[in-house]
Amino acid sequence: LENRIKQAIVDIVGTSNFTDSLIDLVSYSYDASDHEQRPDAAVWPAKTEDVSKILQVANTYHFPIIPRGAGTGLAGAVVPIHGGLILDMCRMNKILDIRIADRLVRVQPGVVYDDLQNALAPSGFCLYGVTRDYVLSLVIVLPNGRILRTGTDCMKSSSGLDLTRLFVGSEGTLGVITEITLKIIPKPIASKTCQAFFADLQDAGQVVSDIMHSRIVPSVLEILEENAIQILRNHGGMKLPDARAMILVETDGYTKEEADFQMTEVINVLKKNRATRIQVAKSPREAEDLWRGRKALSSAAARLRPNNISEDVTVPISKVPDLLAGISRIARKHGLLFVIFGHAGDGNLHPKIMYDRNNPQQVQKISAAVGEIFHLTCNLGGTLTGEHGIGLAKAPFMLLEHSQTSLDLMSAIKNLVDPNNILNPGKMGLRTGAQ
Ligand SMILES: Cc1cc2nc3c(=O)[nH]c(=O)nc-3n(C[C@H](O)[C@H](O)[C@H](O)COP(=O)(O)OP(=O)(O)OC[C@H]3O[C@@H](n4cnc5c(N)ncnc54)[C@H](O)[C@@H]3O)c2cc1C
Repeated sequence: LENRIKQAIVDIVGTSNFTDSLIDLVSYSYDASDHEQRPDAAVWPAKTEDVSKILQVANTYHFPIIPRGAGTGLAGAVVPIHGGLILDMCRMNKILDIRIADRLVRVQPGVVYDDLQNALAPSGFCLYGVTRDYVLSLVIVLPNGRILRTGTDCMKSSSGLDLTRLFVGSEGTLGVITEITLKIIPKPIASKTCQAFFADLQDAGQVVSDIMHSRIVPSVLEILEENAIQILRNHGGMKLPDARAMILVETDGYTKEEADFQMTEVINVLKKNRATRIQVAKSPREAEDLWRGRKALSSAAARLRPNNISEDVTVPISKVPDLLAGISRIARKHGLLFVIFGHAGDGNLHPKIMYDRNNPQQVQKISAAVGEIFHLTCNLGGTLTGEHGIGLAKAPFMLLEHSQTSLDLMSAIKNLVDPNNILNPGKMGLRTGAQ
């Protein structure tokens, strides 16, 4: 950054909240993906007005701004491929308001999910499921520094275009979010956990489908295929049976009877589909034991090679067995070391492929396999990403899922809101006039 720009930023946040030291810039050059690029500087703003002033400077001098949360993303969305200034939101970590009577909370963007859940716990409320479904309203700083409030604190509104939805998932390309209002719900007080094994992957797939037909809404419905089970047995030190698939189900409710009733229905489905072993936890401690394999899997697999790539392809729930079988076929064809696990109840699978970045042959195979997995997913009516976002990693594949008309509209919105392309440039496959 030129000295006059650096000075303008320091004047806004103070010297102690600005850095261009090498060690900080290296830390800000990556997220949890394989992408890497160093920014020119980073700042820690404390309030919406600071963010507004910083964006005005960036819009005047045309340098990139990359909003950053915890940097845990898996798609390279915070990697500053055009350099610029990282806006680390970690100081904006306050829970501003908890309004139980209105069933909402207002938070700053740096609040960690667990901290919010802990703050809600004494009142018996929580956030549940997919966070984007709970967003009621936002405060956003636009690239020209103007401050926008979207949405409403009401549980219902049919007023105007839904600008909140436009900004949720925009990956820092349209505005910097500085305040978020979220719906909350009463926390279920009872839960029941069960684990089942299958000699045939198709049977496990059928369980998912039958549970969907059963009118039960499990709070957890996870699936692990045979490679995952083997890795837990051979490298995770877990005593699991030799099986083609494992399913973990949790039911919950506002009474014990509600959770138990749902679990009885689930067990009927498991038995009907020839589960070879069914274990139902009798205590929270036993439930924790059943969760151990699922929780240990990702890191046990990652330890097998220096690098790994983890995708989050998602299909309509009835297509989960096809996606499982298809991914397995693709990975085997390329001779790759892989596991597949995921949230079968959401149609969301995580193929994780382990490799060595310094082996060009393996890198080439991974790249081919990932492309084929995305093709397969979209052919099954699915989406490239259920959780991780598009960022850099999936940008080249956007046309598999979205029509040219959709992409043109997304790019037109980007150009309209951010004509100088200062906000997180180069992401999500957006075409821009500037940069
Ligand atoms: C081990 C592991 C397990 C995971 N499991 C799950 C899971 O079970 N379910 C699930 O849904 N996800 C899961 N994820 C993905 C997880 O949801 C994301 O990593 C996380 O939400 C990203 O948050 P972050 O604060 O680290 O964002 P970052 O990586 O810092 O940023 C992500 C994007 O948001 C933008 N951004 C950040 N802050 C702002 C802001 N204030 N205003 C505008 N844009 C902003 C950034 O520019 C970037 O484009 C997992 C990730 C890991 C590493």
